[in-house]
Amino acid sequence: MYSIAIDGPAGAGKSTIAKKVAEKLGFIYVDTGAMYRAMALYFLRHDIKGDDEKKISEVCGEIQVSLAYKDGEQQVLLNGENVNAFIRTEEVSMMTSDISKYPVVRTKLLDLQRDLAKRENVLMDGRDIGTCVLPDAQLKIYLTASVEERARRRYKEQIERGISCDIEKIKQDIKARDEQDMNRETAPLKQAEDAVVVDASDMTIEEVVARFLELYRERS
Ligand code: C5P
Repeated sequence: MYSIAIDGPAGAGKSTIAKKVAEKLGFIYVDTGAMYRAMALYFLRHDIKGDDEKKISEVCGEIQVSLAYKDGEQQVLLNGENVNAFIRTEEVSMMTSDISKYPVVRTKLLDLQRDLAKRENVLMDGRDIGTCVLPDAQLKIYLTASVEERARRRYKEQIERGISCDIEKIKQDIKARDEQDMNRETAPLKQAEDAVVVDASDMTIEEVVARFLELYRERS
């Protein structure tokens, strides 16, 4: 099996790029952030606070997260319900970053992620894929971009979806999330030693896709 691990800060374009590259290579795209988001949604729906580690540990056993693929699109199932439509709000983003620092939450998803990579050629994106989930991945990429550029893109995306938002607020949220993801004890966001850095600040989506494909060809 071949695994490509993609890590990087919030809003660097990981999922947009990863989806396109996976399609070109015929790999399965695994968006691990969506799994953490599904767990965060469960806690939000049950009025559990992001800093209540005790309660979170208690209810973790009630949660089942799984993935299904329909027309090439990844669906995240939370106890059997497709929650794709509910996990992309800023509220869920922040809650996800709050709860993904707990080992009990991470352990729950780790096996599922590794299992997928055992069975399929995967392109998996997240924060700890190259460092922790798939340390033996054949290709590791750390995709980043300036915080200004990431905020601009997220803003444009939200406006296109018809969601009104404030670019400064988006920038602050992205910074807060990166800060928290990079400084947690368990599986923090960091570049794997053997990862190739791609800085997409001044690159178009097509250019980044082409760079990824080039890196894959060099390594296979
Ligand atoms: O990639 P995405 O923005 O959807 O991730 C949401 C949050 O999930 C991140 O800010 C991070 O806290 C968490 N996450 C993680 N490990 C991963 C993927 C996501 O901790 N492998």
